[in-house]
Amino acid sequence: MIPIQVNRLQSLLLLFILAPFIVGISGCETNPATGENEFLLLSTEEQRQLGAEADAQIVAEFGEYNDDAIQSWVERIGKEVQAQSNDTRFTYTFRVLDTEVINAFALPGGYIYVTRGLLAYLQNDAQLAMVLGHEVGHVAANHSAKQYTSSILANVGLAIGGALFEDVRPFLGAAQTGLQLLFLSYSRDNESQSDTLGVKYATLAGYEAAEGAEFFVTLQRLQEQSGTAIPTWTSTHPDPADREENITQKAAEWKAAVGGGLTGVNPEVYLPRINNMVFGQNPRHGFVQNSTFYHPDLQFQFSVPSGWQVGNFATQVQMVSPQEDAVIVFTTASESSATAAADAFRNQQGIQTLERMTVTVGGFPAIRLRTTVTSDDGGTLSVLSYFIEKSPNVYIFHGYTDIGRFNTYANTFEATERSFETLTNASILAVQPYQLDIFQASQTTTFSSLVTPNSGAGMDILSLAILNQKDVSQQVPQGTYLKQVD
Ligand SMILES: [Zn+2]
Repeated sequence: MIPIQVNRLQSLLLLFILAPFIVGISGCETNPATGENEFLLLSTEEQRQLGAEADAQIVAEFGEYNDDAIQSWVERIGKEVQAQSNDTRFTYTFRVLDTEVINAFALPGGYIYVTRGLLAYLQNDAQLAMVLGHEVGHVAANHSAKQYTSSILANVGLAIGGALFEDVRPFLGAAQTGLQLLFLSYSRDNESQSDTLGVKYATLAGYEAAEGAEFFVTLQRLQEQSGTAIPTWTSTHPDPADREENITQKAAEWKAAVGGGLTGVNPEVYLPRINNMVFGQNPRHGFVQNSTFYHPDLQFQFSVPSGWQVGNFATQVQMVSPQEDAVIVFTTASESSATAAADAFRNQQGIQTLERMTVTVGGFPAIRLRTTVTSDDGGTLSVLSYFIEKSPNVYIFHGYTDIGRFNTYANTFEATERSFETLTNASILAVQPYQLDIFQASQTTTFSSLVTPNSGAGMDILSLAILNQKDVSQQVPQGTYLKQVD
């Protein structure tokens, strides 16, 4: 039996959960950012279609941050810098994703994403303009289309991952798994080119692009603080210090070229916009504590296997075994009954039903299903599923592993999936997320004496200093806008 690793399992999951993309070969096109002709597997129209389909998945997985003022402000700055890119092929879309992960990325077809986690670490509009300009650069220079071209040859199952660019992988939350594992990175050359393009677009849109370098200092400080994530970063990304230097130099050149008059540097414009923004993981959307997954908004809980990694996404929870050879996916069904959801699953091509039982889980009517799933490449997975009706939703567990390992994991799948029950703990039901608190320094004094650490949110003085792009012992003038976490 061939050992099945998580990437292969994930690929198989994608076949069921996500619609596969079918693309054809295209020819040469002119690159809008460089003006050069190049060979691309994806035509402009195919990039547009791929982007639109993957965008729907991204929004489903992460959710958009629910604040119209923040969304429209990011869109406004995004459109301003995009207008300088000469890329008229696509109608660009800018979204703020509801995740604490510090990240920005782009899809073919002009889909640009920043996370609320990233917005928290910026200080002004110019830094945001630079981040958005960098992502526009990836699209305009066809980086994502080229990345897709090479990845499709390697593994069709990784189509979605290959289409994405991920900028700040080391700062993923420790528990992030699943789709995030599939995000591939671009080359250092592509990163440098996007930095240069981002500086150009932001400057031409009137922003002080040199501010973008400050954000790379922040990334560097986060990297030093996080420690273990460094190898991933350095193997695939240019050093933040090099990027900072490159951006500073290019920004000076462009500033001279346009004759100055650049704006967007004032924290007092930017920071009030993110006052009260959710900071860190939002526990209302589910969290793990003492080997139990709790979902306060939907009022359920279930146990998580000891030592397994948990990834919590907007539409699913993924649990991955320590050996990465088994996965339990928890999600909601689009069908309105457990029976209909179970039938929809087992009627898919390649799925063979071994057992089907009507059962009760946590007091709710449920269907227990044992199936095997055969993939196009002839591999076979063994699956234990539960479909549970808890009004108004039908919840699904799929425990997957290679058919030869099912006996190893059968008890774990069973115990996890059968542990689903109503959440009744009043304090967990009432839990609220941490929020950014923007305030002004009451007097001129050191940074450390102006902010209050929050150990529950994991924000000590150094973390707050990084969040504010300040040094712990720095003198801060009265009236300065500062961030802390309440
Ligand atoms: Zn980039």
